[in-house]
Amino acid sequence: MGVYLVTGVASGMGKSTANQLRWQGHRVIGIDLHHADIIADLSTSEGRKHAIDEVHRLSGGRLEGAALAAGLGPIPGREELIAKVNYWGTVEILEGIRDLLAEGIDSKVVVFSSNSTTTLPGLPPNLVEAFRERDFDKVMEISKQARIPATAIYGASKTALAHWVRETATTMEWAGAGIRLNALAPGAIRTPMVEKQLATPETAQAVLDFPVPVGGFGNPDDIAHWVIFMLSPAANFLCGSVIFLDGGTDAWFRAKDYPGPVRPEQMDYYMQRMEDYREFRKIRDGE
Ligand code: NAD
Repeated sequence: MGVYLVTGVASGMGKSTANQLRWQGHRVIGIDLHHADIIADLSTSEGRKHAIDEVHRLSGGRLEGAALAAGLGPIPGREELIAKVNYWGTVEILEGIRDLLAEGIDSKVVVFSSNSTTTLPGLPPNLVEAFRERDFDKVMEISKQARIPATAIYGASKTALAHWVRETATTMEWAGAGIRLNALAPGAIRTPMVEKQLATPETAQAVLDFPVPVGGFGNPDDIAHWVIFMLSPAANFLCGSVIFLDGGTDAWFRAKDYPGPVRPEQMDYYMQRMEDYREFRKIRDGE
């Protein structure tokens, strides 16, 4: 039985994940604003530092895995918090506990992204890039200048997160250290987050009208089963993947966009990555 970190443990999918891990006999260290082992505000750098220090203290020096579920939905008026918690509150926590995950055997990480990464039109690439540059002031400046709504800031934060997962997962510090880092991209799941959107007049109709081919909303306990699966040995060969669990919304809009072949204009990069892999393998395998 192992020790697992779950952020956003007080509600929704984080809570369901923590419950299922405990039922399996694991020890869970939960982080949230309330009802958690570690009370920390992940929107501030002090809160994140406190959380990282406490995870080190409570874990005994090793983690078998982590599920990063803390986040805010696309509620108007919460733009700054959406950006800080969804992106910084995930990436900085993971960087701060990487040493503990590297101590675990075949440890696994599941990051909560979203299908808003692929199903929201017009996410400005420079906004996603500002997240990746970790320039919070730039994120806010672009958002204000272009009058970007909360939904797009949410989508950009989750897109930047998915890109961070895919880029980071295959590095020496993560895959090379035996850590499997992957993301989930849920659609509308009936948690307090979606209940809030349904109770907000500006967002309710859009949520209800959005295409979901299988109909209705997802169930947080069902999603937690997938998180458990992605934290289990069944996921030993999963690395840098973004798994969509959205009742078919992404496939509805984007059936032919993914998967796709390497395009001719991408060949230089492809060949460079082939070259890079030779070096990567030498270091990973100590050749
Ligand atoms: P939820 O609102 O039920 O739970 C989120 C948790 O995050 C809450 O317990 C909240 O207290 C915590 N949190 C918020 N701000 C925090 C802060 N500053 N510091 C520490 N903790 C904080 O949400 P959920 O629906 O279970 O969502 C879980 C994750 O999945 C989120 O990252 C969300 O963006 C993502 N997601 C949700 C849906 C959905 O439809 N519910 C869809 C796609 C992605």
